[in-house]
Amino acid sequence: MADMTLLDRARKGEITAEIRRAAEAAAGAGIDPETLRRLVAKGHVVIPMNVSLRAVPTPIGACMRTRVNANIGTSADYADIDSEIEKAKIAVQCGADTVMDLSTGGDLMDTLERILDATPVPVGTVPIYHAACTRTAGTALSDMTSDDLFNAVRSHAKSGVDFMTIHAGVTSATVDNLIASERILTIVSRGGALTTAWMMQNEQENPFYSEFDYLLEIAREYDITLSLGDGMRPGCIADANDYAMFSEVITLGRLVKRARAAGVQCMVEGPGHVPMDAIEYGVRVTKELCDNAPLYLLGPVVTDIAPGYDHITSAIGGAIAGMNGADFLCMVTPAEHLALPTVDDIREGTIVTRIAAHAIDLVKPGVRDSARAMDLKMAVARRDLDWDAQFELAIDCECGGQKESQRARSIHEARNSQSETCSMCGELCAIKVMNKSLGKKD
Ligand code: SF4
Repeated sequence: MADMTLLDRARKGEITAEIRRAAEAAAGAGIDPETLRRLVAKGHVVIPMNVSLRAVPTPIGACMRTRVNANIGTSADYADIDSEIEKAKIAVQCGADTVMDLSTGGDLMDTLERILDATPVPVGTVPIYHAACTRTAGTALSDMTSDDLFNAVRSHAKSGVDFMTIHAGVTSATVDNLIASERILTIVSRGGALTTAWMMQNEQENPFYSEFDYLLEIAREYDITLSLGDGMRPGCIADANDYAMFSEVITLGRLVKRARAAGVQCMVEGPGHVPMDAIEYGVRVTKELCDNAPLYLLGPVVTDIAPGYDHITSAIGGAIAGMNGADFLCMVTPAEHLALPTVDDIREGTIVTRIAAHAIDLVKPGVRDSARAMDLKMAVARRDLDWDAQFELAIDCECGGQKESQRARSIHEARNSQSETCSMCGELCAIKVMNKSLGKKD
């Protein structure tokens, strides 16, 4: 149990072992431990880490590399724990910085404990899923009690979970705003919908809001980082940046202050489905209202009409959001809106989200130079027509434990050229022609 949390210690000027390790892990980006401590003390960076100290310290927020989360977890239809463990491992091999267990099928605690054992990175959960799934068989959602919710939080914290999504911003006032709105898709957040349905059926305030101080007590005890969920995130671009969304964000801003005052680290979550010209505004207002708490985004998906390709629609939105201040991207897979993702979907979604994160880092203060150095190496390898180096420098080079990009190599070799170039231009290769003209390489 934590007498003092990581945030308490950072505020007192202490460079803890976790801060030192996190700074070392981010050393390529030029972050020294004292700078990181100050960012943690202000709440502009969080290092999600349970008192069990299981996970690799992973700083998320200002001046840090843009982080990527991979969502995994069973469903009622597919409750195969081994498959979820495989997904967790693949996601981490593909570069996911964190994993969230969103399981809703099978033995939830067994699944969570096995994922924690199999995963070196910080693990997050959404405890209301657990409470909703494990309420007494045959009872209605409305029979779930406030104790069920807090018991789920405590049991996850005890197991070693590092961060938790809590939809504390879904208040009676927020729900009134939603009902008065003309939204097409009222609520698409699963946690937001469960919370709202419970509140409406019981005619009560959201326990995570009305008993937020109790939640903070548990979070302090286990030094859990709270991820304040966006229950009102828009589920289609017609609903983006509306009154319901921003009324929740205002509440989240207040909760950020209360969490920090209690020594609890917190992030804020964001939408959702947003057209490209509305992303900057939504991100900047959220960051402002939440005092620059690290912003964790799902997407945003920039069009509603690309099922099967939503890893791409969300990477486009994520890149724009990151350029404007988002710090942490939740992987979206090709299966989004369609089905529980497969292992291959998780691999694809993680890599595509990492591409968006890297594109952000190329322009992000604090990490720009180290990110650009990676691209510069690739440019030199291309200039030198050094194919092995290109495969090794590719962003998916460690995917599946490989040391080079299997995809890049197989495309290149399947349609190989007779010369040292690729089969696109052959002897008319612009790079070869210019290298020769400038006397750099034959
Ligand atoms: S052959 Fe064309 S596409 Fe291939 S490396 Fe040379 S310039 Fe690029």
